[in-house]
Amino acid sequence: MTTVGILGGGQLARMLALSGAPLGLRFRVLDTVADACAGQFAPLIVGDYRDKLALAEFASQVDVATFDFENVPAESAQWLSERVPVFPNPRALSIAQDRLVEKTLFRELGIPVPDFADVADRAALDAAIAAIGVPCILKTRRLGYDGKGQFRIKSAGDVDAAWDALGTQAQTVGLILEAFVPFERELSVVAVRGRDGAFRTWPLTENWHIDGVLSASLAPARVDDALARTALAHARTLGEALDYVGVFALELFCRDGVLLANELAPRVHNSGHWTIEGSETSQFENHLRAVLGLPLGDTRMVGHACMLNWIGAMPDANAVLREACGHWHDYGKEPRAGRKVGHATLRAETAHELAEALTRVGEALGRTDIVAHAAGIG
Ligand code: AMP
Repeated sequence: MTTVGILGGGQLARMLALSGAPLGLRFRVLDTVADACAGQFAPLIVGDYRDKLALAEFASQVDVATFDFENVPAESAQWLSERVPVFPNPRALSIAQDRLVEKTLFRELGIPVPDFADVADRAALDAAIAAIGVPCILKTRRLGYDGKGQFRIKSAGDVDAAWDALGTQAQTVGLILEAFVPFERELSVVAVRGRDGAFRTWPLTENWHIDGVLSASLAPARVDDALARTALAHARTLGEALDYVGVFALELFCRDGVLLANELAPRVHNSGHWTIEGSETSQFENHLRAVLGLPLGDTRMVGHACMLNWIGAMPDANAVLREACGHWHDYGKEPRAGRKVGHATLRAETAHELAEALTRVGEALGRTDIVAHAAGIG
């Protein structure tokens, strides 16, 4: 009996545990809160990620460890890796935790990125703005996610407000200034690399955001083959450079046929949830196969898929369940503003059928954004 340990007990850990059940796997989850939703399916250890006693208890109960949360302190991941195999490796995790280090690596690897600069203090911000220009975005280097820890600087007049909002963090989590990319599309490559170096990607995914939070993903993305091949090649370059094991997502902006890398998520990713029903092997199953050293499953798509995120509260399930191609995922979380509480995936043989189903769901839920996405698909 193999037990997989997961640091972080949110919906990603929950879906990992669900996908591991048919493989005969057991799970242990470490999370800071007692109601972490993965705890509904796997024994939960409640403790801080820096707490050596909790980490030691966790390590003693698992054969291999992985993450559902990338902000586990790198020292904790390192400490754990001296006791039990940890995938992805702590170096990959720590690179992905720091936007400056991550973007510097992308550039070194020949993966294009938006212009960026380190912002150590107010003078450095002024210098960075002079070099990069406006509009631009000031972001925390570490601990930012889903658009949090970011300030958009639209014109020179916004610089004081940006510094007031984030300046105190320059000395704690660090700051980075990035050029604002007026992208046509946001894309992500969800990829998996095995312990033996085997590498696979799912078809390129197209993502829509509302207020910096993913709202919907479409696969395959509406881009030409050459662009998709470039994106997948970037992911392979990155996976190999990091000696990565497991699933990761590379988020990209597409502008005028050019790809610019935004960030690496060193874990299964929200933009890969559609793979549960929309591909031969889901990102969750393949992540487990990778960290366990098992052969990777085929990543080919089964039809066309669109995933809709439910944020804050679950909508009426019937709107999705009455669709022949509708699949419902409720994470078992309490509703809370801004919280990802579930998702749905619609999968159809053709883009046209997918668009029709999406339109019906959007109309039933009064979601004009979903109806608008549908209009662009079919
Ligand atoms: P992030 O936390 O970096 O993934 O940012 C959240 C969202 O903000 C992204 O998905 C984009 O929609 C937007 N965003 C972040 N960085 C940029 C940028 N440099 N240019 C334009 N939009 C951005």
